[in-house]
Amino acid sequence: MSRRGLITLAGGIALGGASLLPGLLADDPIRELAEQQATGEPPILDCARWGARAPSSPLTVLNYRPSKIIVHHTASPNQDDTSPEALAALARAIQNDHMDNRDWPDTGQNFLINRGGYIAEGRHESLQTLLGGTSFVEGAHCIDQNDNSIGIENEGTYTDVSPPAALVNSLAIMCTFVCGQYAIPANQLYGHRDFNDTACPGDELYALLSALRAQVAQALVGGSSPAPSPTAPDQRALASSPMLTVPYWPLLRIGDRGAAVLAAQTLLRGAGIPAVPLDGQFGRTTADAVYAFQQKHRLPPTGMIGGGSWPLLAVPVHPGDGGYAEQAVHVLLRATPAAPRARPTPPTATIGPTSWQRLLDPHAPTAQPATQHG
Ligand SMILES: [Zn+2]
Repeated sequence: MSRRGLITLAGGIALGGASLLPGLLADDPIRELAEQQATGEPPILDCARWGARAPSSPLTVLNYRPSKIIVHHTASPNQDDTSPEALAALARAIQNDHMDNRDWPDTGQNFLINRGGYIAEGRHESLQTLLGGTSFVEGAHCIDQNDNSIGIENEGTYTDVSPPAALVNSLAIMCTFVCGQYAIPANQLYGHRDFNDTACPGDELYALLSALRAQVAQALVGGSSPAPSPTAPDQRALASSPMLTVPYWPLLRIGDRGAAVLAAQTLLRGAGIPAVPLDGQFGRTTADAVYAFQQKHRLPPTGMIGGGSWPLLAVPVHPGDGGYAEQAVHVLLRATPAAPRARPTPPTATIGPTSWQRLLDPHAPTAQPATQHG
């Protein structure tokens, strides 16, 4: 395994403890650990060490760098066993599920972190390509994003409980290392729901992502990358930049209510789903309408509106179109809680995806749909 080209992590991030994984490093744990710490590489349990099966068919190695990281939760129980052995067992269970039940050639994700903060390689070659820093193995973790992203699964279900500190700490270390190796800007760190209609990585873990971006940006600034490329992003500027808050699509599901729901219902009507009510309440009938929409667009049927359905629903609006989409824009403009002076003016230019996201985000710093071509 090549150790060339490794960066040293920022001193600001403690490597989850010198005790990471000693029981799992086969040959000479002390030496290997020392090597890893010297290079800044987080201790990662590779496929051979957790007893992975061989892939059932050849994997695809892409000879360019991924442009983003996508964070997931495994949606498995928040178990108490946080040991390295439990990590190995989980890695095997996930691989068996992905190969036997989903018919994938290997594990879907690139990396896995357990609730104790221990990190494992997912799909074969993920670690070796990461250490090389110029290629990566195509995973199966996020529809339409597998050929441009690194997928990190985090053990547990974070719908309404926070992930343990050990996990969050290792996730920050891992993201910092991946960003450093592939020159990924710290703001290119996303949750699964940003691209697909899913609750993954859970509301609680998803809510931590902006803090994670800032932490990773700071760590990269503090890092002593030996030869920064002239095209590398200016992480220092990034760390204090509003750029760390990326525009996002809100996740809507049963139980939600309000202007965003009404706008979505209006857009569903516009998308040719007439049965949807226009009451701003996401109930069973609205979920059924979403299923119909997802079926029509060959999206996984989840009944939720997330990063999968939004880009197809929120079509470009030209002022004066007068259709359902423009109606939806006005629903959102009316609901903007801003003071009158800051209230966005009705659109005078095309509303594209970014403008839609700003309109849908009640906390967006500047809602100026009229001047932005998303
Ligand atoms: Zn996911």
